[in-house]
Amino acid sequence: MRRRDMLKAALFAPAAMMIPSLGTTADAAEERGKKKKEPGVCVLCYKCGQVKGSELCCKAGAEKCPKCGLHKGSPGCCRLGGAKKAVRLCTYCGQIKGSDKCCKKGTVECDKCGLDKGSPGCCRIKKEEKTA
Ligand SMILES: [Zn+2]
Ligand SMILES: [Zn+2]
Ligand SMILES: [Zn+2]
Ligand SMILES: [Zn+2]
Repeated sequence: MRRRDMLKAALFAPAAMMIPSLGTTADAAEERGKKKKEPGVCVLCYKCGQVKGSELCCKAGAEKCPKCGLHKGSPGCCRLGGAKKAVRLCTYCGQIKGSDKCCKKGTVECDKCGLDKGSPGCCRIKKEEKTA
């Protein structure tokens, strides 16, 4: 009799503990999704090279670049240099945020998109105007 009760407890206890913990992780994920976008920053997913959270990010069946393994033609393709975390691009200049090239004076602007010509973001991310 006692042994049977123990078995019952072992079977039901973990399941009962799972339910509230699952609830909290879903809430936390939702919380992160709602977080306001930082101005002047475009975050690239290091796994696929696309703009993080965009429709294309980590999309199944996307064509991959044979050189870098990221999505072919994505902003990060052959530009992230094997990053292990999300890469932030500056939407004012198109360069990697905080890099030596970011918002450097005297750079050549792309006549199509207005970002630095040849930068990771050039013609791939939307330019944002700086608000002073
Ligand atoms: Zn992704
Ligand atoms: Zn590539
Ligand atoms: Zn910049
Ligand atoms: Zn451009």
